[in-house]
Amino acid sequence: MKEHINVLFVDDSEGDVLLIVRELNKAGYAVRHRRVESAELLSHALDEKWDVVLCDYVMPGFSGLEALKLVLDKRPGLPCIIVSGQIGEETAVSAMRAGASDYIMKDKLGRLAPAVNREIREAREREEKREIQAALRAREDDLRLQQEVGRAKDEFVGFVSHELRTPLTVIIGGLRTVLAFHKLVSEEEERQLIEGAVAEAEHLNEIVENLLYLARAQTNRLEVLRTTVDASEVISGALKQIRTVGTGHQFILDCPSPVRVSADPVKLGVILHNLLVNAVKYSSPGEVCVSLRCKDGMAVIAVSDRGVGISEEDQERLFQPFERVGVSRDTTKGIGLGLLVCRRLVEAQGGRIWAKSRIGEGSTFFFTLPLAE
Ligand code: ADP
Repeated sequence: MKEHINVLFVDDSEGDVLLIVRELNKAGYAVRHRRVESAELLSHALDEKWDVVLCDYVMPGFSGLEALKLVLDKRPGLPCIIVSGQIGEETAVSAMRAGASDYIMKDKLGRLAPAVNREIREAREREEKREIQAALRAREDDLRLQQEVGRAKDEFVGFVSHELRTPLTVIIGGLRTVLAFHKLVSEEEERQLIEGAVAEAEHLNEIVENLLYLARAQTNRLEVLRTTVDASEVISGALKQIRTVGTGHQFILDCPSPVRVSADPVKLGVILHNLLVNAVKYSSPGEVCVSLRCKDGMAVIAVSDRGVGISEEDQERLFQPFERVGVSRDTTKGIGLGLLVCRRLVEAQGGRIWAKSRIGEGSTFFFTLPLAE
């Protein structure tokens, strides 16, 4: 059976081309071919699939060297054999130097089929090698990525375990002491130990809750059940809850009238809780204000404190996972997930979140939620 090959001719003579095709037919090839004789047509033709280019060297208005350069530029792996009648030894050498795969005289066409055969085979081998190398590289990249993911996972597990273990140690230690020395410690000391354990358990609970929200957001399993809610009521509830912690702060609600938003009240509560916890954590006892306004079809909720503030540079990193910024990093408890969770929950409800802050003057965290229709 004849082997099918696709041959692109760059030649000004149809007669010569037919002669060459016949020569290739004789050698056992079924040839699909096209002839072009200008740079423009050659450039177009090179977009198609060819096995070999057979290029005349001297043509009116288009030289073999120009054609060769075009082929090499556009299709570097495609063999290009010069087939010419008027080519001296020196010209042939310069064509080979310029990147031709071979050169054949038109009066010695017997050499053509073996040259075509060899060039096509070698080009295919080169292509196969390239494909194998590319597949190998892709596998290596894949393996490296898997290793990196594995390392990141290990780091994450180590980090989280450490953050979970610290409060657990306090809880277990406190409760064991109460049990072991029940009759020996004063009631006040006992109360302090239990209060310490409860505070740590709450901190633990916050970490685990944030981790769960984040994991759900990451795997698109964050269920947002939006209903029409009065945002000021949810804010009042969040303020009531934080007041019970007894941090010494004064909490102010600045909301002139009820504002109905389309939101998931539980998620809204979590956002407010995280922002209020931060406002308290990163400020000395003072005023913390939550305000609620409407603008362009959105409710804008702002939580402000008069605390340590955040530098402009640090503000850009606030909503990244595990980012803790400024001096507060070393003096307060936290793992840098609260704001990321806020962002995921706000965005899942069609809003956005951002911060304005100045070092030493305090911070305001704003977020928006769509107003109910
Ligand atoms: P965490 O509080 O657990 O560290 P967050 O994601 O809630 O994590 O906050 C990330 C970082 O942003 C905090 O570590 C802190 O440096 C900074 N930050 C957040 N809220 C405030 C705030 N109200 N005032 C100053 N810094 C803040």
